[in-house]
Amino acid sequence: MSKQTIKDVNVKGKKVLVRVDFNVPMDKETGTKITDENRILGALPTIKYLVDEGAAVILCSHMGKPHNVFNEKLKLNKKEKAKIEALPAEEQEAATAAALEKAKKDVKKLSLAPVAARLSELLGQEVIMAKDVIGEDAKAKAAALKPGQVMVLENLRFHQEEEKNDPEFAKALASYAELYVNDAFGTAHRAHASTAGVADYLPAVSGFLIEKELKFMGGALENPARPFVAVLGGAKVSSKIGVITNLIDKVDALIIGGGMAYTFSKAMGGNVGNSLLEEDKIDLAKEIMAKAADKGVKFLLPIDTVCADDFSNDANTQVVEAGCIPEGWEGLDIGPKTQELFAETVKNAKTVVWNGPMGVFEFANFAKGTIAVAQALADSDAITIVGGGDSAAAVTQLGYADKIDHISTGGGASLEFLEGKTLPGVAALNDK
Ligand code: AMP
Repeated sequence: MSKQTIKDVNVKGKKVLVRVDFNVPMDKETGTKITDENRILGALPTIKYLVDEGAAVILCSHMGKPHNVFNEKLKLNKKEKAKIEALPAEEQEAATAAALEKAKKDVKKLSLAPVAARLSELLGQEVIMAKDVIGEDAKAKAAALKPGQVMVLENLRFHQEEEKNDPEFAKALASYAELYVNDAFGTAHRAHASTAGVADYLPAVSGFLIEKELKFMGGALENPARPFVAVLGGAKVSSKIGVITNLIDKVDALIIGGGMAYTFSKAMGGNVGNSLLEEDKIDLAKEIMAKAADKGVKFLLPIDTVCADDFSNDANTQVVEAGCIPEGWEGLDIGPKTQELFAETVKNAKTVVWNGPMGVFEFANFAKGTIAVAQALADSDAITIVGGGDSAAAVTQLGYADKIDHISTGGGASLEFLEGKTLPGVAALNDK
């Protein structure tokens, strides 16, 4: 069932509460300088549309993880507590007070005020910043907001009620508006007050970002142009089991690379040396391969491996056939023959979904496999979809972003989507 979008409802003259993802990285020193504004840029089409259509736009988002400092109920995290407990008894009180003062200062760095200031420059109009989320200042500013104006509420996670999906908190947010728009895919897998709870009190539709996620990822899962090829990589089989199990019923070919390939190699009787290996997943790997064979799904593992004598960029390396990794060596990337095989398979596809690097791409010497897959997707005429996280970062860093049809804006959310799970932030939206 498809979900309503902002284009399906009349927004003119309405107050609209929009959940965006303004969780942008900030310079650690100043706490006020945005170091990557892509998420703000990503939210602009929805905001501009609402402004142009004459809505009064109330934006809300979380920023960082202010969990340990909730308003007046200040709590220290485990590490800080342990440090203080290690001090002589008479010093502990003063150290606790100092730690709390620092925590208070740090949490102020998680204000959305710098984002509102940047948004104002990008929109070319005033953006009103509320001093709180459901307090008097936000209430007054929301009540006075006129059509075409934009305001930003303070960091939602300054209230623990946000992540607890507290109904009263959700109701208070909803009371500002007549319509709720969710455009934060990155948090759509969380049932929080601003992502799910609020939809109990307001009509709920998606913004353009979530619409695009559903169109591309939903389209690939429901009705893909074939051949449909999935490329999965990353460290562990255990974190990708859900995706593998869901996709194996849908794809024509499944390509496995990265650290998780060695558990499959071992399951086939190969030698994997010191490579990443999940012993307790070997049987599961066998089951997955049997299921693929049963369903006629092409199951491709690396045929050669770049292995290293140390887990470092400067390690000695050799390329060996898959399953022939010598003792004392570990596989850190797919080999050149595998790059060709995977690229060829991607080339012949009509839909490609990629999630997870092919090797330890953080080390330049072991990034070639990941780069080759990114290149293959960029060169392909297929509908290309990159799940968030590392693979999205790789594609963007390589400058291929505009050659990919869809780069998901959510890491965890896109993984859960590919697992076939219902995302609470999507489920809460009105059906068409
Ligand atoms: P994931 O979060 O599961 O997608 O895994 C991403 C991580 O997997 C990256 O940090 C990679 O460095 C790591 N990774 C990929 N291939 C290997 C490998 N062959 N050995 C060790 N780590 C790997």
